[in-house]
Amino acid sequence: MTSKFLAVDVGASRLKIGVFEGLNIVRRVELETPKTGGPLAVARTIVDNVGFEKFESVGVASIGPLDLERGWVVNTPNNPLKTFALRDPLSEAFKAPVIVANDCMAAAWGEHVLGGGVGVGDLAYITISTGVGVGVVVDGRLLVGRRGNAHEAGHIVVDVDSGVRCGCGGLGHWEALASGANIPRIASIKAGEWGGDSDAWRLALGGSLSPEALYAMARAGDPFAVRLVDYINRVHASGIASVIAAYDPEVIFVGGSIYLNNEDLMVEGILKYIREYSLLEPPPIRRATFGDDSVLYGALAIALNPPRELTRYFKGA
Ligand SMILES: [Zn+2]
Repeated sequence: MTSKFLAVDVGASRLKIGVFEGLNIVRRVELETPKTGGPLAVARTIVDNVGFEKFESVGVASIGPLDLERGWVVNTPNNPLKTFALRDPLSEAFKAPVIVANDCMAAAWGEHVLGGGVGVGDLAYITISTGVGVGVVVDGRLLVGRRGNAHEAGHIVVDVDSGVRCGCGGLGHWEALASGANIPRIASIKAGEWGGDSDAWRLALGGSLSPEALYAMARAGDPFAVRLVDYINRVHASGIASVIAAYDPEVIFVGGSIYLNNEDLMVEGILKYIREYSLLEPPPIRRATFGDDSVLYGALAIALNPPRELTRYFKGA
């Protein structure tokens, strides 16, 4: 009989659960991530929706920050639960080893173990979504960091003069200037500086240019939307150039809803500026192998083939 694995993607708002037999998904559940109910709410929701099956191992890829020593999410800004347990309640319920990693890190490992990065020792996975996150495999090893938080490259400074404050409190960060959640704010700032007039510009000025509207209007040729998409591509290019300078990856996979839905307006624009910003020959940029399920397959990858950087936090059977 094929071994069963449980993979879980704990997002800020969505919880995805996959039951796998080997590499085949045999059951999937998608629901809201609990926002109330205390520190065991997320683990309890997972157990309630899976039932007591026997798994070889369990991989959990989660929003951070993490404390991998304890297997908890600690003080996350993205879910009102703030701090909650993952590893121990799950390993007690399933009587199986549970490996926890950050979502971007897991997605990078997913590319390395199961995706387009098989056989590639150096790669980066970047998500461009509500926020911006980065996971990196260097010399075949997953970059994890002291407590499991070496994925915060979205907070690389890309503009020392913008004066734009990030959700984290810092100034001029990649995520603050270009992530989905920040697009209406950046659009409004840029609209104030622009001398023209267009439909997108008017929406932006009122602070209500959503990412969906921005990219749709740019696709339709709205001049303000086209300029703003170009600016946002420059921001992504400068962030990615920093990732290239730091890690020298052979390939960069990009996922996250903003990128996956708007690759046509982003990939060439980003590459053009990377060539300008980067000292090194830029590596190819590829669409995330597992698309919207990159984090879920990342969770499967850490369950199937846990990197040694995470096995020291192993807990369970
Ligand atoms: Zn920041």
